[in-house]
Amino acid sequence: MKTIIEPFRIRTVEPIRMTTQGERRGLLEKAGYNPFLLRSDDVLLDLLTDSGTSAMSAEQWAGIQRGDESYAGSPSFYRFEKAVHEIFGFEHVIPTHQGRAAERILFSTLCKPGDIVPNNTHFDTTRANVQATGATPLDLPAPHGLDPAVPHPFKGDMDTDRLVELLETEGPERVPVVMVTITNNTGGGQPVSLANLREVSRICRDFGVPFYIDACRFAENAWFIKQREEGQGERTIPEIVREIFSLADGCTMSAKKDGLANIGGFLALNDESLARREKNLLILTEGFPTYGGLAGRDLEAIAVGLHEVLEEDYLEYRHASVRYLGEAISEGGVPIMQPPGGHAVYIDAAALLPHVPPLELPGQTVVCELYLEGGIRCVEVGTVMFGSRDPDTGEETPASMELVRLALPRRVYTQSHVDYMVEAILSFADRRESVGGFRMVEQEPVLRHFTARFEPLYEFGTG
Ligand SMILES: *Cc1c(COP(=O)(O)O)cnc(C)c1O
Repeated sequence: MKTIIEPFRIRTVEPIRMTTQGERRGLLEKAGYNPFLLRSDDVLLDLLTDSGTSAMSAEQWAGIQRGDESYAGSPSFYRFEKAVHEIFGFEHVIPTHQGRAAERILFSTLCKPGDIVPNNTHFDTTRANVQATGATPLDLPAPHGLDPAVPHPFKGDMDTDRLVELLETEGPERVPVVMVTITNNTGGGQPVSLANLREVSRICRDFGVPFYIDACRFAENAWFIKQREEGQGERTIPEIVREIFSLADGCTMSAKKDGLANIGGFLALNDESLARREKNLLILTEGFPTYGGLAGRDLEAIAVGLHEVLEEDYLEYRHASVRYLGEAISEGGVPIMQPPGGHAVYIDAAALLPHVPPLELPGQTVVCELYLEGGIRCVEVGTVMFGSRDPDTGEETPASMELVRLALPRRVYTQSHVDYMVEAILSFADRRESVGGFRMVEQEPVLRHFTARFEPLYEFGTG
């Protein structure tokens, strides 16, 4: 059979509410044209993030019922620990309430001021947690990952020449840990090849530097390795995953991504004395080491989710949805980052709206127009998120790219939902010449994209 179907049937449903274009125009205006400030009840298809938004399976809900809430030594913890051992192979497993707590604990035990932490590309919480220790995060993406329009099978790779150069010039003493993020979220959800991970691992061993993996989308990355990397097609996903993590000394994980859970994370590693120090920090801010800020029921849901995410039928459906969305809008003339990543499609708003200059926020136009067009919520990843404003002069510097991310929650939407997304996006693209830009009228000094308010610089919603 050629048709790829959702490998599940739906037994619990959550109605989503249709709204009219007129209602959506009013709701957007009230929200200051910032979709973060909309109520999710007013959103039809929510592509804001794939984090914590997965649908849980019947088995995961059964785990929720089985959750044991003992303060110490709960069987739920031991089921969670066993799942992480089996899949990732690390000796010590430290649960945390989400990925960033694992990052904070890892970096505050390894880093000191003046250190440098390289990564293919730091995710924003990872970058902030490195900086909080006084160390400097350094992105070393491979050159073949940098041009959004040029496809390559492994655009998430790390630049290993620059890694060696860094270790030779700065000395391994200044580099307390090397990290690789799979898939490379900030770089567009692009995968890292097994060959690149082997090379990074070899370099780290040569220089005696610990190698950690930011594992948030490990199953999606393993699927790309199986599909795209020479000699990997016959291996099972669990085999590929085991090899990936055997190359590293530890990992941080957000279970809100490939844990198929709504909350949770962990830090896993082999170094016993480091693990002991990290558990002491965990007790200080997260909780006792057999729950780490999570309820026993959450540990159960993650233990089940980590196994379900490795099923090939699931991974095939997951990637088919993302690829279908990316290919359909790209064939319809909407420029996207090529090829589509594992969890999201990124529209190149600067290329779609060449008549809207970066400082008039073309990504914000796309985000607002897609909500108006079809009740779809997505997020600007451009000047609103990454541009900067001089606090004295108020002068704005645009971001290097103007992207809009359409992130697909796991197991939530069906093929007809994706067809609807395609229709809405292409229908907006048809009238792109009639739209203009936006201007920010209120903003906070940090992470402004969450709360900023905007005004359109054109007749919004009359086209
Ligand atoms: C989401 C994410 C994190 C942080 O995880 P949280 O659970 O949101 O704290 C870290 N790294 C990457 C690559 C992520 O996508």
